[in-house]
Amino acid sequence: MLKLLSKIAGIGVITEPLPEPADELCLRQSMQADILAVMGRALCIRQVDAGSCNGCELEIHALNNPYYNIEGSGIKFVASPRHADLLLVTGPVSKHMEIALKRTYDATPDPKLVVAVGDCGCGGGVFGESYASCGRVSNVIPVNVAVPGCPPSPTRILQGILTAIKTRTA
Ligand code: SF4
Repeated sequence: MLKLLSKIAGIGVITEPLPEPADELCLRQSMQADILAVMGRALCIRQVDAGSCNGCELEIHALNNPYYNIEGSGIKFVASPRHADLLLVTGPVSKHMEIALKRTYDATPDPKLVVAVGDCGCGGGVFGESYASCGRVSNVIPVNVAVPGCPPSPTRILQGILTAIKTRTA
């Protein structure tokens, strides 16, 4: 036994050091602390597709996979705007969605936050304004934070959500 212990002491630790945590993990940990500090509970998000090509939805869908573990960070997507703290809106707002988006905004309890996602949500994108499109989300409802990109990555969307939460304390 003593021989074994002296051998272990002589060799020392030969395993590789742990890798640095990924950026997303650091962001997630700081986000969880911020959400708890501001909200005191989970952040509930209602996502609204106001006319997107669904590219942004794919990134939001990816944000919900186990890698990002957003539920573990205190972020939850809900089915009703009445249960939501934040609206995550994609796409240029099509004329057909204009009233629906306004009603969704009105149904969300104050103080509410709105994050516009993607180049279309931020500025109308390739669709712009036309007989069929109202353009950017802020043409229809107030927007707190815009997340550009076509589409923005899940990490960029997370950063946008975090920025919106911080505006509550500002
Ligand atoms: S920003 Fe790009 S991915 Fe998102 S809805 Fe517009 S065209 Fe589609």
